[in-house]
Amino acid sequence: MPELPEVQTIVNYLSKKVVGLKITDAWTDRPKTLKQAGGLISFKKQIKNKKILSVRRRAKYIVVDIEGKKTIFIHQKISGHLLYGKWKVASGKWESIVSGPLKDDKQNGYIRFMLMLNNGYQLALSDLRRFGKVILVDDDKVKDLKEIRDLGPEPLEINFEQFKELFRSSTSKHRKRGRIKQILMDPTFIAGIGNIYADEILWDSGFHPLSRVENLNTSDLRKIFNGIAKILKKAIKYQGSSIDDYRIPSGEKGKFQDIQNAYQLIGKKCKKRDSGIMERLKLGGRSAHFCSKHQILK
Ligand SMILES: [Zn+2]
Repeated sequence: MPELPEVQTIVNYLSKKVVGLKITDAWTDRPKTLKQAGGLISFKKQIKNKKILSVRRRAKYIVVDIEGKKTIFIHQKISGHLLYGKWKVASGKWESIVSGPLKDDKQNGYIRFMLMLNNGYQLALSDLRRFGKVILVDDDKVKDLKEIRDLGPEPLEINFEQFKELFRSSTSKHRKRGRIKQILMDPTFIAGIGNIYADEILWDSGFHPLSRVENLNTSDLRKIFNGIAKILKKAIKYQGSSIDDYRIPSGEKGKFQDIQNAYQLIGKKCKKRDSGIMERLKLGGRSAHFCSKHQILK
């Protein structure tokens, strides 16, 4: 699933391309993708000839602000990613009119939803597994969406004191309890971190994924806080990880998978050169990848 760096890469790319353009039409072959009373007809009526004012990110969601105090809220879910290009219908299927990854990479060929723009380009959602969602809401209702209202803070927008405070329960003096990896991946605790980046952050900061947060001291939390900022910023710089379905809106792959240190590297030598071999364990139905040599269990 696209995590913070992948969604930020998409938002950075689209901000340069589509802000100021007008939406001329919309298309979908999958009514379920569009969570809209009245379906595509009603959606079209409300977005037609509206200018795109901004494209931003909250957690793993893409928020497109358009004229008329409306917001197009996009949840790419497991395999969805937004693409920017020009397509035409060929034998009943959308096909990119230019060659390259938009045409040739099959991850970009599962187009379920499209916005047509007044510069002749289209914004398309390619979504192999069909869980992606597009929701049109009034600007002032965005904060009430169930995807948004319970979210924790943005990890790149808080300081260390605020981060430390997250580990205290709001209802008592007791500290938050649980396994560090699951807590980092909990969007109500902190937003945007999923399986890939939780593994990378813990590898970098030197903590075993099963470490219990109630055993972590201030210096440990500082290491994790620094690891979060370092890894997420680096992953944005490398335009996200295309180890799975995710692609940049140009259709190309991100490059973070080339420098990943933990995720899916089972059996490989630890890149800290500490003679550790990367292992995997199951945690809450997900895999955690780690080195038991330098990642300490607290
Ligand atoms: Zn190691």
